[in-house]
Amino acid sequence: MDFRMPDDVVEFRAQIHDFIERHRTPELEAEIAGHHLHGYGPAAEAFLQALADEGLPSVAWPEEYGGRGKGALYLWILSEELARAGMPWDTLTFNSVSPTIMRHGSEEQRRDILPKVLAGEMRFALGYTEPNAGTDLASLQTRAVRDGDEWVINGQKIYTSSAHLATHVWLAARTDPDAPKHRGISTFVVPLSTPGITVRPLWVMGEGRTNETFYENVRIPADALVGEENRGWYIVTGALDLERVAIGTYRPLERMVQDVVAYLVNERSDLLDDPATRMAVADASMRVEVGRALATNNAAMVHNDMVPTMEAAMAKVWKGDSSERIHDAFMDVLGRSGGLHESNEHAPLGGMLEAEWRSDPPHRFAGGTNDIQRRVIATRGLQLPR
Ligand SMILES: Cc1cc2nc3c(=O)[nH]c(=O)nc-3n(C[C@H](O)[C@H](O)[C@H](O)COP(=O)(O)OP(=O)(O)OC[C@H]3O[C@@H](n4cnc5c(N)ncnc54)[C@H](O)[C@@H]3O)c2cc1C
Repeated sequence: MDFRMPDDVVEFRAQIHDFIERHRTPELEAEIAGHHLHGYGPAAEAFLQALADEGLPSVAWPEEYGGRGKGALYLWILSEELARAGMPWDTLTFNSVSPTIMRHGSEEQRRDILPKVLAGEMRFALGYTEPNAGTDLASLQTRAVRDGDEWVINGQKIYTSSAHLATHVWLAARTDPDAPKHRGISTFVVPLSTPGITVRPLWVMGEGRTNETFYENVRIPADALVGEENRGWYIVTGALDLERVAIGTYRPLERMVQDVVAYLVNERSDLLDDPATRMAVADASMRVEVGRALATNNAAMVHNDMVPTMEAAMAKVWKGDSSERIHDAFMDVLGRSGGLHESNEHAPLGGMLEAEWRSDPPHRFAGGTNDIQRRVIATRGLQLPR
């Protein structure tokens, strides 16, 4: 069987590499190095705008929504290549929320929102999790009450990542408190500039920034509702599947493995005599290859308009577990120097390993915990009893 990509995919990849090389500036590199989850600075914002201006993200979506109609595979390739190069990308907007709006939004919403996303004018944060609703998301309490031509929103969300950068929040709120908990939730597109919204930083390990968001009598128009009222649970679970496909990208790990191997060969060849070094590197590259297979399968499913559930859970868990295992093993290989911070001139790989190692644990939880994803694989994938 021939697994090679078609010629125009190869060309598109080359176009992305060319774009990255033209827009990779020292200012951008410096911002990315200090970024983690903080959010982007002006150089990264300029990079994202240039990406939109050159029309690279528009490749995938249908022409009626401002795209070039090539299909989701191309957007996946763009995300993967940007991730591989460590470049900024708004994965939640492009890979989760927008495809969900394409699937569940009205024609008017699609024609309004999607071209704005492509132009870089609309970016989303995800408003799902609350202080008492994480894994058990269906228990969420944030209320949306209809008042004439408007919805009035009151409540609190936590871990609203990117809310300090986004223009809108993709919000899940309770619209029928009397219905069974999965059947009283609806989804909304809420401009973050609406009066009554407060965004407060929430810092997590690895110098990561996410946010708490507060909604106090926030009034949005009736047509901010996406999909059928009270059917939001089913919309959100599909959006979460797509989010996990994106989170499950193996490309940053691929880069880490290649960089560590190059570092060992060029600067620490003394360590290569140790069989443990070879074992660590071999195990890591094997994990990257499995990640590639899972990600490619997910990309093919999304391209063919399927929503991967078990497959997305597998990719998310594999990526998270592999990151921790690979970064841990490389810490062992590099010994005391592996833990040097990026501010230290002797830090191997500019301190990248130390930063990644500290950033790993929160990713067990983001997008749904790895424990719960294993349960999804067992029950929804393998049909085992709950
Ligand atoms: C870095 C980061 C970014 C995030 N970004 C966003 C975002 O942008 N938007 C958003 O809405 N949310 C976001 N989240 C929140 C994330 O989705 C939640 O952390 C996740 O859903 C888990 O919820 P919880 O943290 O409340 O954990 P809990 O649900 O309290 O779980 C705690 C522990 O108990 C286990 N557990 C819970 N229930 C069960 C069960 N029934 N059976 C077995 N084990 C169980 C879990 O696996 C976990 O280990 C983010 C989280 C992190 C860490």
